[in-house]
Order: sequence, then C-alpha cells, then structure tokens
Amino acid sequence: MTDPLASSEQPTGSEQPTGSEQPTGSEQPTGARQPTGARPPTGSERRAGAGQPAAPAPVRPVHRPSTAARPARGRDAETGVDTFTLRAAHVLDESGRFGDPVDVAVRAGVIRALGPGLPLEPDVVDVDARGLWLMPGVVDCHAHVTQSTYDPFELVTTPLSTRYLQTAEALRASLRAGVTFLRDAGGADAGIRDALAAGTVPGPRMAVSVVALSRSGSHGDGAILGPGLESADEVLGPNYPGRPARTAGAIGDLPTAVRGVLRAGADWVMIYASGGVMSTRPGQPDLPFGQAELAAGVAEAARYGRPAMVHALGERAVQAAVAAGARSVEHGIGLGEGAAAAMVARGVTLVPTLAPYRDLAALASTGVLPGWAVERAEAAAAGLVETIAVARAAGVPIALGSDARHRTRHGGNLAEISHLRRAGLTPPEALLAATATGARLCGVGDRLGRIAVGYTFDTIVLDEEPGDLELFERPDAVGGVFLGGRVVLAHPRLPAALTGSPRAATWAGPTST
Ligand SMILES: [Zn+2]
Repeated sequence: MTDPLASSEQPTGSEQPTGSEQPTGSEQPTGARQPTGARPPTGSERRAGAGQPAAPAPVRPVHRPSTAARPARGRDAETGVDTFTLRAAHVLDESGRFGDPVDVAVRAGVIRALGPGLPLEPDVVDVDARGLWLMPGVVDCHAHVTQSTYDPFELVTTPLSTRYLQTAEALRASLRAGVTFLRDAGGADAGIRDALAAGTVPGPRMAVSVVALSRSGSHGDGAILGPGLESADEVLGPNYPGRPARTAGAIGDLPTAVRGVLRAGADWVMIYASGGVMSTRPGQPDLPFGQAELAAGVAEAARYGRPAMVHALGERAVQAAVAAGARSVEHGIGLGEGAAAAMVARGVTLVPTLAPYRDLAALASTGVLPGWAVERAEAAAAGLVETIAVARAAGVPIALGSDARHRTRHGGNLAEISHLRRAGLTPPEALLAATATGARLCGVGDRLGRIAVGYTFDTIVLDEEPGDLELFERPDAVGGVFLGGRVVLAHPRLPAALTGSPRAATWAGPTST
C-alpha cells in the first residue's frame, strides 16, 4: 500500500522520522619513476573492491565537538594509505569549473599541494590520474537516512531494528554514491551520527537534527494521515531514549521542544514553519507557529549555539523563517522577491530539494493521488523551478538537498545536481551548490567542500567531464570516492596501495575520542 500523503515533505515514520610537508624540487612524475595504478578503467569493474577508510582524518569538529565531523570507518577497513600524490587530474576549482590537469599531493588525508609538476617524494604513492576528473565529495544538506519507505503500512509492520539496519544501508549507499557529508533533516538521532564516527558502519560525515519539530495537527505530525492514525507518533515513529517528542502542542511550546532535541544531541534544530504540499488540507493554517513563537524557538537553539533549518513553503512562511533567524530555508516553494531579498540580507541559504517534488508530480500523473492533491503536486514541482529562478536572480546562496527518504533514493542523491541544472543553475553553480556552498552552510566550509590546499581530501572520481551534469542521474556516475584521503569506493585506476587488498580486510575497531 502506498499512501501518497506520506510522500509529502514530512515523512511519517522513523524519519519523523581531518600532512606532512610541501613537496620540494622540480622532478616530473614521469621518467625516473613510473606512476602506479596506470591500468585504464573498465566500466564493469569500477565498483568492485571498495575499501573502507581505516582511520579518522584530522579535521576539526562541526557543531558537536566530540564526533560530528569525524569520518566514519568501515568495519571492513583495509590497508590503504592516506598519503599519496595524484598526477595530472582535472580538478574542480573554486569557480566550479574544471581546469587543466594538475597534481594533487595528499598527506595524512589533507591536501598539501596542488599544481602541475609536483615533485616526486620517496615513500609516497604516486598515481597516474590522467583522464580522471576530481571534484569534492557532495554535501547533501537535506536527507532522511532513517526512512526507507513512503508507505505508512510498511512502517507500522517493520520492526525498529529492521529500520535501523536499513538506515545503515542508506548511509553506505549515500557514501558510495559520493555523499561525504550529510545533514539529516529529521529522523536520525545522535546515536546514528556517533556510531558512524565510531566506525560501526560506513557512511558520510554527518550532522543530525534528531527529529523535525512541528505543531501538533500540522505538517510533521503523523496524525494528519487521517482517521485511524491519530496515534501515528507512537505507532509510526515511536519515541525512545535519544529521540524526544517532535510535536509542540500548546502555543508557546516550541522552545521547550527545541530544548528536547538539543538535550538529545542535535547539531541542528529542524522546524516545520509551514505545511507541506500534500499535508496541508483546505482549512489548515499555513503558518502553524506564529512569528513570535517561531522566533523564540530559533532563539532558544541559538542560545545553545545551534543553528536552525526551517521548512517553509510560501512567501509568508519564508519571510517568517528568515525573520526568526533561520540559517537555511528548506524547499522554499513560492518565495517571492521580498523573501529572497530578506534571505540575501541575512545570509540565509536555500535548500530547494527538487527530487521529491519531481517524484510527487510523477505520482500525480499515475492517478493514485486524491483529486485535491493532483493539481498541488504538479504545481509544486513547477513552483520550485520558479522559486529557484527568483532566488538565483536575487543572489540567494543555494545548496543541494536530495530529501532522500526512500530506499530507491538513498544513493541517488547526486541526481539532484542534474535537477538543479535543469532548474536553471549553470553547471558551475550547480556543482558549487553540491559542494562548497553546502559545506559553508553546514559550518565546515573552511575544510570541506573544496579541492584546495589545507582541505580534507573528501573527493569523488569521475571518468568523464560532467558537461551538462546529466551523468549524475546515472547510478554509476561516480567511479571512486575518498573520505579523509581514504578510499571508500575503489576506482579501478587506483593502485592497491591506496585501496588495500580485499583479502587483507581487518577490523580496525572503534577509535577513542
Ligand atoms: Zn525532508
């Protein structure tokens, strides 16, 4: 059973569900010493033999000093190294374009030198990367890794243990697809983030919001699914230690709910400041929280040093979110020039999430949506494209968010890059939205999201120039992934010294903090 109501923005269930030295000299990479790993790529084996990172890179923390920005280590951690030099690769620069081939010197997971003809160094693995394109790992600023279905019936009948094992698979798929930092927009609690940091399962670096906060009876409250599901909170997304209540009942309750998620270890506070496309039925208020209460909630988060990400559809809701102090506006469908100007003035980033609205419009065309919802679903998809045009024209920073919350979407996060291009961003703009802009929004822009000296080597390997970006809609678009300089998806051009031998898999064990 598929309940299209569940495919509105708010998920229904569980979702509520960091070198050494600069090289010296001028010796060229060819000649005296042949680079290793020069075998040409063969498409069918590109995904074979992925290694896992074996040690955390020395990055500084994100929002939660203990764990949030530390790379995950896979339980199959192999023997690859995080000190090497890649030769003659095309590298995405800070303008979002690929330039002439350069060498990239990575030492202990951090880029220490970048440029043509870097010198050979003894005991450093040298890799021929001619014909490969490198870009920073993608920062997905809006996903729901704990949700693998839109179907409330499936949620009701799926044990929590199964949901969390599915979450592990979603995290692994996201990382192998090239997502190296993920901000969860509701559903993933601090335990998931901390398990990643401890190396229990492979996955991207992660920031969590624990639960998305909503006004009871409004968007985000599973009870709006309809009669018979009034207790949806308890049934579809039960609370448990580490997962506080997600709805604010009485007027003025939002700051209390905010403290609940902060106590649970949230890096971000996620608030629903408007209805969703499919959740807001005729007669429901479009602003579930008044301006004062919304501002009080965001201010409470700020008192604890945490930023707010605010779901807002429509000009009024976006204006309210920006006035309240949101760091990012999620979706933003229908924002006008006034809201866009306010966002620019206050440095607020838009995370438009095109993929789910495309899915929703496709669903509408199949006839399974109720009549009142079809027009809205189709209008939302078109409206978001117009919203992006308004935001872009005003100069609003735009960051990528896949809103992935279905097993068929985890690992397809990078399709959003192509969607952004189709929605009017230039290829460089879309590539920056997926990398540097997202990293800046997530508070890690000084060390992640770019391939530049001093930055951590979280990097994607492509076999072709991305051109008009449509390749990101292909499941095999990304041929290799590095996290903190460690190979997590092994490209066939990479030598065994980097990828480790599949037979040498060892359990490296969790790292103490
Ligand atoms: Zn979402």
